[in-house]
Amino acid sequence: MEVKIGLECHAQLLTKSKLFCSCSTDYQGAEPNTHVCATCLGLPGALPVVNRRAVRYGIKIALALGCCVQPEIIFYRKNYYYPDLPRGFQITQYDFPIAFDGLVRIATGEGDGGKEREIRIRRVHMEEDPGRLVYRGTIDTATYALVDYNRSGIPLVEIVTEPDLKSPKEARAYLNKLRSILEYLDVFDGDLEGSMRVDANISIEGGERAEVKNISSFKGVERALLFEITRQKNMLRRGLTVRQETRHYDEVRGITLSMRTKEFEHDYRYFPEPDLVPIRIAPYIDDVRKEIPELPDEKKQRFMAQYGITREHANALTYDLHIADYFEAVAATIEPRLSATWIADVLKGELNYRSLAMREAVTRITPEQFVVILTDLKRNVITERGATEIIREMLDHGGSPGEIIEQKGLGSVGGDELATAIEAALKENEAAVQDYHAGKQAALNFLVGQVMKQTRGRSEPKEVRTRLEARLLEYAK
Ligand code: ADP
Ligand code: MG
Ligand code: ZN
Repeated sequence: MEVKIGLECHAQLLTKSKLFCSCSTDYQGAEPNTHVCATCLGLPGALPVVNRRAVRYGIKIALALGCCVQPEIIFYRKNYYYPDLPRGFQITQYDFPIAFDGLVRIATGEGDGGKEREIRIRRVHMEEDPGRLVYRGTIDTATYALVDYNRSGIPLVEIVTEPDLKSPKEARAYLNKLRSILEYLDVFDGDLEGSMRVDANISIEGGERAEVKNISSFKGVERALLFEITRQKNMLRRGLTVRQETRHYDEVRGITLSMRTKEFEHDYRYFPEPDLVPIRIAPYIDDVRKEIPELPDEKKQRFMAQYGITREHANALTYDLHIADYFEAVAATIEPRLSATWIADVLKGELNYRSLAMREAVTRITPEQFVVILTDLKRNVITERGATEIIREMLDHGGSPGEIIEQKGLGSVGGDELATAIEAALKENEAAVQDYHAGKQAALNFLVGQVMKQTRGRSEPKEVRTRLEARLLEYAK
């Protein structure tokens, strides 16, 4: 049974002021209803003025998604009543949005043989955010709701896909990619709470679609979609019809609940906002195009060509602009493949484990310090394990590579010291030596382990093995 998914993503634009008034957008952590004015509270007679920068950001996004930007945009009133919308209508776009017909490429498989698919973008438009309702408990059990208008009027861009996504996993991949593109453009901050909210539409062959509204995390989108697949399949299997409806995702219970039957466009009585004139954006398009930086897909291709790294590493290193810049800073001094391995695999793994963002990591381990770690590793001053330990220590407690090597005694054991350890291990384990000469390969592994123990892990297993084998040959004589 074919699954079809289409996403409507609302991303908060990083402007200083709101979309139609001069209230500050910097309300995170502020007391409720402190970033408000007559316009964003929807008081009678208050007039909107369009934020020029927000429109430029909208154009920038549309261009980056390969859309066809329209010459003129018009804002519309979408009429509905809800306590988070005091005016009784939302100013959004309808006919004449910023753009139509774009594309986002997503990776669909794992590893280097992974394929890519193109997800079509149907349209990109701008709108204002309503206020925020705060429920005590969950939406269906709360006895009252509080309302905070700090968010009312925050500029959003809405990006709508065609129903091209085929699984919850693809939906997640699409969202990650979209986030990455928006962050490259410097118009969006995915780390801000609730900065991207998603309406997820999903249908299964033979049924109509459900629209799960207002999911605020990518993981939530994936879980809500998985739940819907099971729910809709079960209905179809029992011969019931899946009707078009609007559902709510309960984050705590991981389920979706019916809110209402689907509303239709004519219910909203869309009409052009009479307090705003149509805006000709055609003259700005070329200007905005110049501000578009190298985007993740281009950077990925360049990394593969310029540095000879794998597609998988190039993917991992270009997802986040901070990581990409970090990699390039390190790879200017250290072999790119070694840099790629240590940044994409080790450093990112340690960051994920600690739920740290790359921009945070940069302040704890500078690229210069990372170069020092990798240089020490290459010169066998430290082992791979030692290098990992330095990275962990620096992320957790700070310090410099040199200090940590000193404090933790991470300097690798080689030369005479290693020779002594090998002699000791051989002397203490004669039975194993005999087993080895009798052809038992496992005995060698055991002896390597014993030497590692003698050096308290400060030697490179590969080197220990080579030297042990050489020494065991002599021993046989
Ligand atoms: P509305 O504005 O009423 O939500 P749209 O036609 O604009 O409806 O579609 C909204 C979203 O629903 C789009 O992302 C689209 O891809 C998706 N969609 C449309 N039809 C289906 C379907 N059969 N299954 C899943 N998603 C769909
Ligand atoms: Mg919709
Ligand atoms: Zn305001």
